Amino acid sequence: MSDEKSVEDLPGVGPATAEKLKEAGFDDLMSIAVSSPSSLVEAADIGEATAIKIIGAAKKLADVGGFLTGDVVMEMRNQVSKLTSSSRALDELLGGGLESGAITEFFGEFGSGKTQITHQLCVNNFRPIEDGGQEAHSIFIDTENTFRPERIVQMATAHDLDPTEVLQTIHVARAFNSHHQMLLVEKARDIAKEHPIRLLIVDSLTAHFRAEYIGRGVLAERQQKLNKHLHHIMQFSHLNKAVVAVTNQVSAKPDAFFGDPTRAIGGHILAHTSTFRLYLRKSKGNRRIARLIDSPNLPEGEAVITISEDGVRD
Ligand code: ADP
Ligand code: MG
Repeated sequence: MSDEKSVEDLPGVGPATAEKLKEAGFDDLMSIAVSSPSSLVEAADIGEATAIKIIGAAKKLADVGGFLTGDVVMEMRNQVSKLTSSSRALDELLGGGLESGAITEFFGEFGSGKTQITHQLCVNNFRPIEDGGQEAHSIFIDTENTFRPERIVQMATAHDLDPTEVLQTIHVARAFNSHHQMLLVEKARDIAKEHPIRLLIVDSLTAHFRAEYIGRGVLAERQQKLNKHLHHIMQFSHLNKAVVAVTNQVSAKPDAFFGDPTRAIGGHILAHTSTFRLYLRKSKGNRRIARLIDSPNLPEGEAVITISEDGVRD
């Protein structure tokens, strides 16, 4: 139905505008329907009033934005898939695993296990659905140069998977700065046209932003950029029914702006966009404690996990 309509079918969108929109990644009705007027203004050199009209028309054609009855919402909720973390306790804390169409944020200090978890998720995403996987490909945006294929091999082997086959499903890109990091999400959309991408990792979401925007004077700009980035990530998640896991650092010493070391950086914007926030802290030996901070439908709670050569476990 609505899939047959394309960007060119929108009133007010001529060939030149359509071309500009497509170049900016707005290449189907859904991506326009869920965008903000200002992003279209920027992408296509159009006025704000036109942008609002285009978005309204896209919402109608793509059939989004109306009211639904609770039972229909329930049915849609049942289509949400859950990706296992390889720890039963952590999966339970998250209501059965990491949810598709939502952002799960892991924050914690250096060495708390954030990167290990993201590697484990890439391995698990390859696994059969009956094993808690999604039989799909993953995208890994690596900002700290900590992606290690060797770890994937270890974790895949521990789950009796062919390590090479698993590696072939993980699309890794190193982000050199925050601007590049944002571009990579757009690039991810192209990869999603060629492969079934059901997992997007951004490890770390905030490191570049934090390093590049220093001082109170640029705080607003940093948050604005981060906000835009998160919206693109959320869009990707919706369009591909993908699980999104992002990491966020907290420093052991108090942050100049956010004081409390256990508070994730990124401020209100990140706090409001992440659907699930997990605070990781070190415990004895290879144990880590994951605390669910914020969730729309789950109680707060904690899970103890371990990190070994095999990966994440109870
Ligand atoms: P961060 O939160 O900074 O991303 P990491 O996810 O990189 O932290 O966690 C690093 C920790 O993971 C190490 O301190 C170690 O405890 C554990 N780890 C990493 N690789 C291995 C391995 N091959 N075998 C066992 N434990 C490992
Ligand atoms: Mg890390």
